[in-house]
Amino acid sequence: MNEFLTEERPRLLPDWLDADAAALSGAVAPAATLAAALPGLDRARSLSALQRLQLVQRSGLAEWGGAGEPVHLAWRRFLRGHGPSVLVIDATSFDPRALGSAAVLQRAPWLLAEGVLIAAGLRDSMTIELRLPAELVGHEAAFLNAADAIRSLANIQVAKRRLDVQRDCKPGCWADAPAGDASRLVHTPQTWCRIARLFAAASGAQIADLDASLLTLGRGLAQRGLVEFKRADKLRDLIDGWGGGVEAKAQGPGDDPVLVFDDGLGGFLPLSQADLSCEPLAFTEAGIAPSPASLMVTASGTCVVKQTRRALYRHWQLAEGEAPAVRGLLARVARLTTEITLGRGDAGHLAALDELALDLGTQGLAAAWPLSSSLRHFRAQWEQHLRRESCPEGLCLDLPHHAAPCHGTCPANIDIPSFMAHLGHGDYRATIEVIRRDNPLPLTCGLVCPAPCESACVRSSHDEAVFIRPLKAKAAEHCLANGGYPRPEIAPDSGKRIGIVGSGPAGLTAAYYLRTHGHQVEIFETQKHAGGMLRYGIPAYRLPPELLEQELEQIKVLGITIHTGARIDRLEDFRKSYDAVFVGPGTQTARLLPIPGAHHPFVLGGIDFLRAVRTGETVRVGPRVVVIGGGNVAIDVALTALRQGAKSVDLVSLDKRRDMPASPHEIEAAVAEGVQLRVGWGPLRIEEEGQAVFQFCERVKDESGKFDPKFDTARLLTLDVDHVILATGQGTDLALLEGSGVETVRGFIAADRKTLMTNVPGIFAGGDGQQGPRTAVEAIRAGKIAAASIDAWLRGVPMDAMTGRPVRRAEVIPLVVEAHDRSHRRRASMPEKSVEEVLGEGNYVRIEEGLTDAMAQDEVRRCLRCDVCIGCGMCMVACSEMGIEALRMGDTGAGRLAYFDFERAAKLCIGCGACTQVCPTGAIRLEDADGVRRTIITGTVVCEQPLLSFREPGIPMQTPAHREYIRKRLPPHMAAHLDREISPSSARQRGDRPGVPGRDGLPKG
Ligand SMILES: Cc1cc2nc3c(=O)[nH]c(=O)nc-3n(C[C@H](O)[C@H](O)[C@H](O)COP(=O)(O)OP(=O)(O)OC[C@H]3O[C@@H](n4cnc5c(N)ncnc54)[C@H](O)[C@@H]3O)c2cc1C
Ligand code: SF4
Ligand code: SF4
Ligand code: SF4
Repeated sequence: MNEFLTEERPRLLPDWLDADAAALSGAVAPAATLAAALPGLDRARSLSALQRLQLVQRSGLAEWGGAGEPVHLAWRRFLRGHGPSVLVIDATSFDPRALGSAAVLQRAPWLLAEGVLIAAGLRDSMTIELRLPAELVGHEAAFLNAADAIRSLANIQVAKRRLDVQRDCKPGCWADAPAGDASRLVHTPQTWCRIARLFAAASGAQIADLDASLLTLGRGLAQRGLVEFKRADKLRDLIDGWGGGVEAKAQGPGDDPVLVFDDGLGGFLPLSQADLSCEPLAFTEAGIAPSPASLMVTASGTCVVKQTRRALYRHWQLAEGEAPAVRGLLARVARLTTEITLGRGDAGHLAALDELALDLGTQGLAAAWPLSSSLRHFRAQWEQHLRRESCPEGLCLDLPHHAAPCHGTCPANIDIPSFMAHLGHGDYRATIEVIRRDNPLPLTCGLVCPAPCESACVRSSHDEAVFIRPLKAKAAEHCLANGGYPRPEIAPDSGKRIGIVGSGPAGLTAAYYLRTHGHQVEIFETQKHAGGMLRYGIPAYRLPPELLEQELEQIKVLGITIHTGARIDRLEDFRKSYDAVFVGPGTQTARLLPIPGAHHPFVLGGIDFLRAVRTGETVRVGPRVVVIGGGNVAIDVALTALRQGAKSVDLVSLDKRRDMPASPHEIEAAVAEGVQLRVGWGPLRIEEEGQAVFQFCERVKDESGKFDPKFDTARLLTLDVDHVILATGQGTDLALLEGSGVETVRGFIAADRKTLMTNVPGIFAGGDGQQGPRTAVEAIRAGKIAAASIDAWLRGVPMDAMTGRPVRRAEVIPLVVEAHDRSHRRRASMPEKSVEEVLGEGNYVRIEEGLTDAMAQDEVRRCLRCDVCIGCGMCMVACSEMGIEALRMGDTGAGRLAYFDFERAAKLCIGCGACTQVCPTGAIRLEDADGVRRTIITGTVVCEQPLLSFREPGIPMQTPAHREYIRKRLPPHMAAHLDREISPSSARQRGDRPGVPGRDGLPKG
């Protein structure tokens, strides 16, 4: 969404934008007479069209936006035209987050309407068109109201004029309005306002600010928002003055933050070169957009080549519907740039791009801005890419290590697309093998993981993320029902012994991977059962103990001993018995609140309560229970309280509902079960008589985002309670460290971030006890890193550089998925027990029922295989360069493209293979079999067409449509020769290709 619009307020508004409330609504005329309400229009009515043009020319008024050309040039072109004409208010912008147009539409609607009506007199234009981008839909209300009000003011024929609002518009790919179209006069909202002000000024007002422009200052600047600046101002003064300077400071010589104009579509400039004036000409000379609408600053170390590629793709996308020559040119620059980012560029690429940048500029294409400016100002980066040196962000040339976003985001770095493909092939054992290379607890994570991988899923920018989490549980259940998980390979005995404190996910994972390295491993656990918080924190309705037990068994069978009921009191002594130790004690103590009354016996710690329930103690609470906290633990406590006798549960959170750390799904489930949410209240005291008193929380964090709650002490909430349960944080019992010399930080064990070794050699630590309360999968990550680190330390070798990073070990053959299904199938919804079935004292029946086999099969087929297709877009632009346009990828907003549309190619592809030639990974390929050519994208056949047979052998196979494509580009005598090569049977087939409507074998469109 619009980050600038939602988060930032315009900071400095000029007078003309600072309309009063009545004018803001646009419904009330600011004055009763035309002369008073619309002085510019009143003045214009006494001038002929030519006189109006002269006035504009004399003023030197320049367009705000686009190429910043003098307004009188556009007016002159327009005046030369004949026939019906349209006045266009173009509120689209290369950067949809720019605030200027939104501010004008909302705060200066009268001025805007006045400017347009002044120009209406040039050719008696009867149609006014308002072009709105998707981001500004809804912002037009004030302008429409103003137009209505003007109708009633005077006989200016407004009523007869048609107002046409075009919504969801995109900016064009041109630097200015297409020349030669004299039927439309196009200006930005800001320019229309200045026209009104110019004419009003002619009747006496000031026109000093006619050379000023609006600019949205965004990310990377200390102060953000909308500012108005004079074109003669220095860019650096603007950045230092209104912008308050840049946030990212240069680290040394040559280390230069990057100024990004119009989200990159307007070009790039190093901060060190910001000493130029804001005149359009000065900007043009620097190779950037003459009239940018927004400016942000990225830190030094930004890969400008990658940013340029992104901008070029967007310019190519904006050119949808333009002439093939234009699209081909834009496709070519995008392809050459992408080749460079893939490490396939050479000096010829750079020379070609230099020429193409000139070409783009000459043709008036706005893509010239990002390309020219980046080639000019960031030449060293381009050359660095050509030499295949690491790019500034280290990402561009990392093709061998490329991993799907889900794979990279999963804290355990599970190779998600590979395991899902195995699942789709029905191979559950291979599925579990892939998962357990990075996470030994597939069932547990399949039931309780918050699934950060899903938030990175590329598919979510199309419809919804692939439902990854339950698929792990599905495969695990199948394996467990059929003899257990496949055993991992165990290295020969190393002769080393490792002791582990704690059997939570961190300890279990460390043990599992250490064992696969051939070490002998023993775990020591205080509690009666292993599992840590999986057993004693997470309630049984989410993770039934018998399922956890089955998964633990799969770890023990490797020869890992778990001593339960065995607390380690002194780490110092424990260390002496082992070659190395791993400490994963978790967070077992509830952090109580420092408020009066927190010591009363009816006040319980959240995890103490849950542990007591899970140990089987008789715990009864209520009937009235208040839970304090807003995270997932608080939700679990509330729902457990309902199952332990509470009749009413109030969950009181400091945060407002949308800011609560608990996941929205969990909150909804709690409300559905009858938990009463009370948000925005902070605990004040707990009274002995059984009353919990809260004060209203006005804000939780300060402006900089630091936790700094502010309360309204006059607004109190008092709840009658039988029990108060505090779910406000957990701590670690560090008593075992005494005498060991292991250091701590803020109440947790201190360890090196990379190796997880503490300051004492041979003692490693990880999980909640080291990083603070987090999630099971983060504890698993820590256990895996610790195992790799301990193994390397014992062997005296450096740790593998890929530890903790996603590793692609194999590429599983993509599933064959039908194109329509792949494009349109929606995310499965989890079957759950109804509220009636799960509620009731002592009822810990599992709420989620798990996906069915059929649902799981459908779900894995939604995966786009982002491991195989890296989203570089080369195939798409190669097809566009051919003039075919059979492929369309969607922009994911995360610097990569993705296929969401698998159907378009069926109508347009000619089977030429240009895409397959450029694809760096083989994700798109052609397959010839049984006289048919299939175009296949990551397993989906997107097009099938017959192959021609030839009279002579040795001619490469071709489809009729491809043959026709070539024939149309040859002189007639050569085309006839082509026809003679085809066998008589194939000649009859020509044009009968399935899915292609054209009889001549060429696709339509
Ligand atoms: C109520 C609740 C709900 C949660 N829900 C989820 C969820 O849905 N999804 C999710 O991903 N995460 C969830 N978590 C978080 C998750 O359970 C933890 O992040 C994870 O278990 C931490 O793993 P760990 O191995 O570091 O520690 P723990 O799981 O806490 O295990 C540490 C173990 O060490 C033992 N121990 C401690 N000291 C000693 C000692 N001196 N000697 C011997 N043994 C010792 C403890 O008894 C304990 O068994 C939840 C946590 C709670 C409290
Ligand atoms: S579509 Fe598949 S590969 Fe791509 S991010 Fe989502 S789950 Fe991962
Ligand atoms: S094979 Fe099809 S999709 Fe590929 S470039 Fe040719 S026409 Fe385009
Ligand atoms: S199919 Fe190949 S060329 Fe096309 S985007 Fe994917 S990886 Fe790039």
